[in-house]
Amino acid sequence: MSLTAASLIPYNTFGLEQNAEQLVVLHDRQQLLEVWQAYSSMPLLVVGEGSNLLFTAPVSSLVIVNRLKGIKVTEVEDAWLLEIAGGENWHQLVCWTLVENMPGLENLALIPGTVGASPIQNIGAYGVELAQFCQQVESFDWRTGQVHQWTAAECEFGYRDSVFKHQAREHLILSVTLRLPKAWQPVLGYGPLAKLGGSATAQQVFEQVCATRQAKLPDPAVLGNAGSFFKNPKVVTAQAQALQLAWPQLPVFAAEPGVSKLAAGWLIDKAGLKGTRVGGAGVHTEQALVLVNHGGATAEDVLRLAGRVRERVEQLFGVRLEPEVRMIGAAGETNLDEALACLS
Ligand SMILES: Cc1cc2nc3c(=O)[nH]c(=O)nc-3n(C[C@H](O)[C@H](O)[C@H](O)COP(=O)(O)OP(=O)(O)OC[C@H]3O[C@@H](n4cnc5c(N)ncnc54)[C@H](O)[C@@H]3O)c2cc1C
Repeated sequence: MSLTAASLIPYNTFGLEQNAEQLVVLHDRQQLLEVWQAYSSMPLLVVGEGSNLLFTAPVSSLVIVNRLKGIKVTEVEDAWLLEIAGGENWHQLVCWTLVENMPGLENLALIPGTVGASPIQNIGAYGVELAQFCQQVESFDWRTGQVHQWTAAECEFGYRDSVFKHQAREHLILSVTLRLPKAWQPVLGYGPLAKLGGSATAQQVFEQVCATRQAKLPDPAVLGNAGSFFKNPKVVTAQAQALQLAWPQLPVFAAEPGVSKLAAGWLIDKAGLKGTRVGGAGVHTEQALVLVNHGGATAEDVLRLAGRVRERVEQLFGVRLEPEVRMIGAAGETNLDEALACLS
C-alpha cells in the first residue's frame, strides 16, 4: 500500500492551491484496514468533497478521501431505513430518495458534500437538520482500528455541531443510517417555502429549495467558495434586544432559553463589507456570508479577508463571528486566530 503526494485543488471547493504530502482515495473497507495497518501512527485528515474546508498550509497529515459507496434500504412499518456509505454524494442521495418515493430530505437539497460529512456539522437548511433523520452513525476509530456505532443521542447534535468535532475527531465516518418516516409533512416555515402552501408535494419543495439556493448562492464550480464562512452567532437575549433597539431590522431567532441567534450575513452586509476584496478573495457581492475566490486567491488572502470581516463586525456590533468553515493547517485542524498568527 503506497501513498502519493497530491494537489488538493480537486478536494476543496474554494479552489485553493495546496498540496498533501500523503493522500489516498478510499474505495472499500479492506483498503482502509490496509492503510490503517501501515500508517496508523500518522495523524489523519478525512476529506469528503472539501466543501467546508480551508487548507491554510500544505498538509502533512495522512489525507484519506472518502469514496465509499452503496445504499441499503430496509422498510419497516412506519419508515424507511437507509444505510448510506459515507462517500455517497449528499444531493444525489436527496434526488434518489425522491425518485424512490421516500420524502423527507427535500429541504436539504443542493447542500454540497458527502453523506459521511453530513453528521459532522449536522448539516441544515430551510428549517431542517440532519439530526431529525439520523438514526445511527458508523465510524472507524483511527486510534484503535475498531468500528464504532453511534446512536443519534450519542452523536450530540447541535447547531453546526456534533461529537465528531470534539471527542470523536479521530473517527472516519463509514456510513450513516437515516430514518425517513412514511408519515410525511412538508416543512415550509422558512423563506420562499411558505408561499407553497400546506398541500405542497416533496417534489415541489425540492424544486423551490433548488431554485432559491441557485439564485442566492454562488456555484463553487463557477466561483470557488465553501458556503457560509461564518456561523450565525449566538448571544444572550438581552444583548440581542439591545442590538435590535439600535438596529430594528436586525433578524433575531430564538435559540436555547435566554439565548438568541443573529444572522451573520446581515451583520456583515450592514458593516458595508459586501464586495470587499483582499488579493483574489472577496466577500460575495450578493450573499455577504460567503467568501469567494475570484481567481488566484491564496489561503492568506482568504484568512486576511476573514480577519477583516470579523474585526469590522466586532467593532460595529460587539459580536465576534466564529468561522463555520473548518481550517486545516500543516499539523491538522487550526482556527482563524492561529492561522492569522502564522502569517504575521
Ligand atoms: C455553496 C455551498 C453551500 C453550502 N450550504 C450549506 C448548507 O445549507 N447547510 C450546511 O449545513 N452546510 C452547507 N455547506 C457546507 C458543506 O456543504 C457541508 O459542511 C458538507 O457536509 C461538507 O461535506 P464535504 O464532504 O464536502 O466535507 P469536507 O469539506 O470534505 O469536510 C468537512 C469536515 O468533515 C470532515 N469529514 C469529511 N468527511 C468525513 C468522514 N467521512 N469522516 C470523518 N470526518 C469527515 C473533514 O475532516 C472536515 O473537518 C455549503 C457549502 C457550499 C460550498
